[in-house]
Amino acid sequence: MILVINCGSSSVKFAVINPASGETSLVGLAEKLGSVDACISFKTNGVKTAATLSDTTHTGAMNAVIAQLTQADLLSSIRAVGHRIVHGGAHFHESTLINAAVLEQIKQCEPLAPLHAPANILGIQIAQQHLPQLPHVAVFDTAFHHNIPEHAHLYAIPKAISAAHQVRRYGFHGTSHRFVAAQAAQMLGKPLTELALISAHLGNGGSVAAILNGVSVDTSMGFTPLEGLIMGTRSGDIDAGLLPYLGKALNLDTTGVIDLLNKQSGLLGVSELSNDCRELEEAAANGHAGAILALEMYVYRLAKYIASYVVPLGRVDALIFTGGIGENSPFLRAKVLNLLAFLGFKLDDAANQAAFRGKSGNISSGVAALVINTDEEWLIAQDTALIAAQ
Ligand code: AMP
Repeated sequence: MILVINCGSSSVKFAVINPASGETSLVGLAEKLGSVDACISFKTNGVKTAATLSDTTHTGAMNAVIAQLTQADLLSSIRAVGHRIVHGGAHFHESTLINAAVLEQIKQCEPLAPLHAPANILGIQIAQQHLPQLPHVAVFDTAFHHNIPEHAHLYAIPKAISAAHQVRRYGFHGTSHRFVAAQAAQMLGKPLTELALISAHLGNGGSVAAILNGVSVDTSMGFTPLEGLIMGTRSGDIDAGLLPYLGKALNLDTTGVIDLLNKQSGLLGVSELSNDCRELEEAAANGHAGAILALEMYVYRLAKYIASYVVPLGRVDALIFTGGIGENSPFLRAKVLNLLAFLGFKLDDAANQAAFRGKSGNISSGVAALVINTDEEWLIAQDTALIAAQ
């Protein structure tokens, strides 16, 4: 069994997973860490338990995780720990066994992801203290996009500046795109190494990846997760000229403007209602003008990105929908496929309605459009088991 840990700034997600079957023995979440409301919940054998945390730190949360693993008699079956790490910088292009030198290199990526990296590093350190005898493996969100060619990953700014300051489009959601691409190959009955895929991970955050023969050749998120699609609360692509303009108009510093673009924009900002796609679909059905516009903008941007990835791929063998919205919204999937009919997609309405809440399937009777449930934790467990066995 593999313990998978995803340590965020105020939360720790964890799961105990069998890497061969994907079966989860225990899953849980410690949240609101650092506040008086800090709590932890577990689910094991379908039974849910929740408790408040008296020690509200990340260490307190990990103590509670270890206590729960002991109580559920799982601790002795854990062979390795897999850590989800948001940013691997230019250095890490695959999952890596963590030793002192690797941890140092992960720390050097901190300026590239100041919001996520400190928590990721803390998660490794605390887990290593608790489980020093086990191998720990880092699985990077950015790694899958490492091979995107220079002409696609560079920004058109002076090259010396890009080189000196590690400025490039890194991309994110790599673990999800990699997982669903492998699943798509299985569903299509073809080797991944012979497929041209476009993967759309659509959750509260969202990104599209062009995957040629199993390798990511372009993706919509960039130096940070702000670039690309319209997301729940992120604007996605905007003109950089807006930064100083909005700063002056709203009397905000750069951090304030970036905060606005990350947390108050996207579906939430346009609809002036919610970042939750389900809520917006309901409101749109009832004629809410903001919800209708937000969803229209979302679909338009998404379809434009998908169509543009025919350039690096040369063709499309399948489009993949995944993430909370991709897996559960027949409404948005239908709109996107109808806009992209010129690429050969032909909406199969019954299959589209049926692919919902955990059910995968092909929703196009033309070029394949696959709904696939992502499982990043399982891929982290698989990578961890493989590396720990070496
Ligand atoms: P994630 O970040 O992957 O958990 O995805 C969260 C997003 O999925 C939110 O915008 C949810 O509203 C959306 N979502 C979940 N279920 C549905 C559904 N049945 N219809 C539309 N959107 C959904």
